[in-house]
Amino acid sequence: MFDVNLSVRVLAGTSSGNATLVWHDSAALMVDCGLSDRYISGALQKTGIDLSLLKGVLITHAHVDHAGGTFLKTATEAGVPVFVSRSIHRSATKRFPLMREVKRRGLLHIVDGNEFSVAGIDITTFPVPHDAPGGCVGYSLAVSRGRQTRTVTLATDIGNIDNGLATHLLDSDVLIIESNHDETMLMGSSRPWWLKQRIRRSHLSNTECSSLIRAVMEGTSRRPVAILPSHISTECNTHHHVLSELRNLLDRAGWLEVGIHCSHQRKPGVIVRL
Ligand SMILES: [Zn+2]
Repeated sequence: MFDVNLSVRVLAGTSSGNATLVWHDSAALMVDCGLSDRYISGALQKTGIDLSLLKGVLITHAHVDHAGGTFLKTATEAGVPVFVSRSIHRSATKRFPLMREVKRRGLLHIVDGNEFSVAGIDITTFPVPHDAPGGCVGYSLAVSRGRQTRTVTLATDIGNIDNGLATHLLDSDVLIIESNHDETMLMGSSRPWWLKQRIRRSHLSNTECSSLIRAVMEGTSRRPVAILPSHISTECNTHHHVLSELRNLLDRAGWLEVGIHCSHQRKPGVIVRL
């Protein structure tokens, strides 16, 4: 019987703040922590994860909705290590004073290779095109027992889907992928022209997300259990738009059993257990 027991929950996944929890029996890791202490601590409590189980925070990039927020202070005081590349850390330190405290307490772990392990979870990083200073990365988190491996892969804030991004998403059991905006809603919104163009250059639309998933479907040897669309704009998108785009794609390909669960702004998403 398979007993990896890897679980994942997007605690929040919008332009207003992002945090995702991945855990097994004895440890949890958080990818990004761009929300208040009150929100994330509450979400951990709702998930039944004690702070003492949190063995690391992984940062994708130095934007406030990913690396800002007061939860980092709580995590630092609890002695939780932070894992981040040198260039992203340099940029994050300029923007978020809490990063200095992470370093001062000896909790900073600079990760410049693309593979490392924390608390029994094997982590692979890969570059994601985005307009963040210091760069942006995605993460695959895998747990193995014997010959069985279960993998959660996360890539949000995606500027474009060139350069083989899909190859980093193959053979994952759970895919957390940006589906930021509906193109028509974005262009029809009251946002200034420059901001619309910046969003189009640095975030993935529902249609582009669908194209990325299609590329994964064509290259993968196994179907994911679930796709969790994330970093969903609260002004220029709806869950209905996201779901109808992806459900159409998956249903046409006969991937009927693959679950699609959108992330929320102020409510933790579903727990997917592998
Ligand atoms: Zn960003």
